[in-house]
Amino acid sequence: MSPTSLDTRRAASVDRSIRLIASGASGGESCAPELAEGPWTFDAGPASYGPGASMGDVIPTGSPRQGALPEAYRLASDEELHERIRRAKQTLGERVVILGHFYQRDEVVQHADFVGDSFQLANAALTRPDAEAIVFCGVHFMAETADLLSRPEQAVILPNLAAGCSMADMADEASVEACWEQLATVYGDLDTPDADGLLPVVPVTYMNSSAALKGFVGRHGGIVCTSSNARTVLEQAFERGRRVLFFPDQHLGRNTAKAMGVPLEAMPMWNPRQPLGGNDAAALGDARVILWHGFCSVHRRFTVEQIAQARREHPGVRVIVHPESPMPVVDASDAAGSTDYIVKAIQAAPAGTTFAIGTEINLVQRLAAEHPEHTIFCLDPVVCPCSTMYRIHPGYLAWVLEELVEGRVVNRIQVPDAVAADAKVALERMLRALPSGAPVSGAAPTAPSAPPAAARS
Ligand code: SF4
Repeated sequence: MSPTSLDTRRAASVDRSIRLIASGASGGESCAPELAEGPWTFDAGPASYGPGASMGDVIPTGSPRQGALPEAYRLASDEELHERIRRAKQTLGERVVILGHFYQRDEVVQHADFVGDSFQLANAALTRPDAEAIVFCGVHFMAETADLLSRPEQAVILPNLAAGCSMADMADEASVEACWEQLATVYGDLDTPDADGLLPVVPVTYMNSSAALKGFVGRHGGIVCTSSNARTVLEQAFERGRRVLFFPDQHLGRNTAKAMGVPLEAMPMWNPRQPLGGNDAAALGDARVILWHGFCSVHRRFTVEQIAQARREHPGVRVIVHPESPMPVVDASDAAGSTDYIVKAIQAAPAGTTFAIGTEINLVQRLAAEHPEHTIFCLDPVVCPCSTMYRIHPGYLAWVLEELVEGRVVNRIQVPDAVAADAKVALERMLRALPSGAPVSGAAPTAPSAPPAAARS
């Protein structure tokens, strides 16, 4: 690694920033001092999302737990773990492919063969059909999706089983089935098209959901969407049905449908803890998009006041937020789009542009380090990474790789066959719904199209 790239890596490291804040060596604020510790501390404690943006969320009973990480990995220095990962990867060669989500800590991302969002990474795995193991440095639903799309002989490995997603957990299969039954009392048989050939409700699930929910959607004529193609998917859903049930993220659903011209009054919220989701039958009758009461605790931190402050302090700043952010924040921004959109917008901007970005801090800090020609900062001044992405630490990556070197597969994620068939149907419908290429709001970036995921050396 050259001195320059080492400097860039240091600047990109959110872990380093958090440790400097915790030790008092630098100013600033993090949302939880415990973030300076290894995640095994929380894996050994009561089930929780752990420190970070989701720490106030209630984790569902029975959420996957991670067993103890051997002491050798817990006590190893950063440098030792880096070297162990590098050596294990070299030994495994083409037998393994490592996928790193944009929101992973930089100490993990630097070992990834591909870096991207969940959909890009699932596609990237398809380019390596001969790899015996796919190590997915992301969260649980992403590993499930990679398992659905990969060959059965390939083992998909999640380095820490406690790396779930609090948003995905907000819609469980039983609650969605119960919602479906209640909707049938309002609309009649939900699986039979009317005289115009339209279904009463088309279920659409965001990629950030369990394989079981993707299976539900597949069984009921629905589609999976990503933040890149949500508009295209909703357009296709409206060609098939009178209305959409959108889960789990209310904000992506609302922001996308609003940009398509759906009035807010036609977007009732479904609260799974209340009869008819807290609605009356008349409101549901007029609904175009029924929004599940789910959200991302990372993107919910962004506020209109943060945007106003950025504009006061940085005249001419370009504000781009992820569409998982609340609607007033999206409305106050210059553009809203997926992580891929944000990356391309920064790549396409003339040098000297100032960006305030509303998405997870690991991606923002990495972009700032990799683009010194711009000024890039996170809208949220408090350093507060995604709690579950944080659970993937280089110690766990070193462990799963060294186990593979020894011929042992640990932490394999396998979607049961009974779920996989229907989930694949919903995913295949999504694959046919090409991304619109447009942001949820604002202008499209003018950078040339990127490959499915950024290949790393
Ligand atoms: S950033 Fe939000 S949606 Fe993404 S994994 Fe974390 S909690 Fe889930």
